[in-house]
Amino acid sequence: MFDLLLRQARLVDETVTDIAIKDGKIAQMGITEGQATKTVDLAGKHYVSAGWIDAHVHCYPRSPIYHDQPDIIGIATGVTTVIDAGSTGADDIDDFYTLTREAVTDVYALLNISRVGLIAQNELADMNNINAEALQQAVKRHPDFIVGLKARMSSSVVGDNGIAPLTRAKALQQENGNLPLMVHIGNNPPDLDEIAERLSAGDIITHCYNGKPNRILTPAGELRASITRAIARGVRLDVGHGSASLSFAVAKQAIGLGILPHTISSDIYCRNRINGPVYSLAKVMSKFLALGMTLPQVIACVTEHAADGLRLRRKGRLAAGYDADLTIFDLRRQLVLFRDAENDSLQADQLLTPLAAIRAGRGYMTEQGSAEHVFDL
Ligand SMILES: [Zn+2]
Repeated sequence: MFDLLLRQARLVDETVTDIAIKDGKIAQMGITEGQATKTVDLAGKHYVSAGWIDAHVHCYPRSPIYHDQPDIIGIATGVTTVIDAGSTGADDIDDFYTLTREAVTDVYALLNISRVGLIAQNELADMNNINAEALQQAVKRHPDFIVGLKARMSSSVVGDNGIAPLTRAKALQQENGNLPLMVHIGNNPPDLDEIAERLSAGDIITHCYNGKPNRILTPAGELRASITRAIARGVRLDVGHGSASLSFAVAKQAIGLGILPHTISSDIYCRNRINGPVYSLAKVMSKFLALGMTLPQVIACVTEHAADGLRLRRKGRLAAGYDADLTIFDLRRQLVLFRDAENDSLQADQLLTPLAAIRAGRGYMTEQGSAEHVFDL
C-alpha cells in the first residue's frame, strides 16, 4: 500500500508512467497494479519532473536588503528546494537556520565567506570580515544545512581588495572539505579572466550570462578563453537571473555557441519577485525555452544538474529511493513578452506553469493550480 500514487504522469521525455510514493520517498516508478491511500490521475496530460531546485535565491527573512520567505519563492511556485546564495555569513547563519525550519520548502545555504553576509552591498570591502575560525565553526554547526560557500566578486562588493577575497575563498574551501564554491561575477575589477583562472572543478560561476563588463563573451562575441578553459576543468555555469544579471543577447549568443547553463536559477528576492524582471523560477525557465533550449534541457538544469552541483544526493531524480519531491506542471501555448535585466525584450510562445508540488511525499497546490482546481492533492 502506497501513500500516494500519481497515475499516468507525463515525463519530459514524453513517456507516461505511474509514480508511487511511500514514507516521503519515491517507492516505485512504472505502471503498477498497487494501491495507495490517495491516487491522482494525471491522464497523461500534466507533466511531472523531480522537484524543482532553485540553486540561487535569497530568503533570509531578516536580511535588510535581499529578504524573502522560502515558501513564497518555493513551494507556492512549484519549487521544492531553494539554496540561499550567501545572504548570511557566520554571524547570522544560526538565525537563518532557525527561521527556516518551519518552511515546507527544503532550504539550504551557501555560506557567505564574509561573516556579516549581505547586511550591506560591500561585505568583502573589509578583509577583516573574512574570519576562518568563525566560518569553520559555522560549517561544523550546520553540516546538513550549509552546502557550499559564496563569494561575491564584483567591484561594488570587494572595494579595493581586487582578487584577494577569492584567494581566501579558495583556501577556506580547502580547509572545509572542498565544499562547492559559488562565485558571483558582475562589474570589474577584478577582471573575469583573473577570477576564472582561479576556479576549479565543481566551482560555480553565477550570473553567467550577465551583460556587464565581466561578461563571458569577448567584444567579438566569442567565449573568453579563460571561460573555455574553466569549463574544460569542470567549472559550472549558473544563471542567477536577478535584478541585474541576465542579458538575453549574451545568453542567446552563448547558447548558440553551445555554452548552456548547468543550472538555471532565479536569484529571486521580494523586489525582483514582485516588480520583475524575475517573478518566479518558472518564468526564468520559460525564458530559456524561448532562448532555444529544449524542455528536457531546461528541466535538467533545475533537477539533476542542481542536485549534482550542490551535492544533494537524494534529490533531483525520479527514481526509487530518492526524496518524493516532485513538480507537476503544464507547458502552455501562450504569447508572453519577457524582459531581461537590461530591459531588452524577448517574445515567447510558451510558458511553464507549475500546478502543484509534492515535497517529502505531501502535496501542495500552487496559486495557479488552486485557482483551476486541476486535481485534489
Ligand atoms: Zn544573489
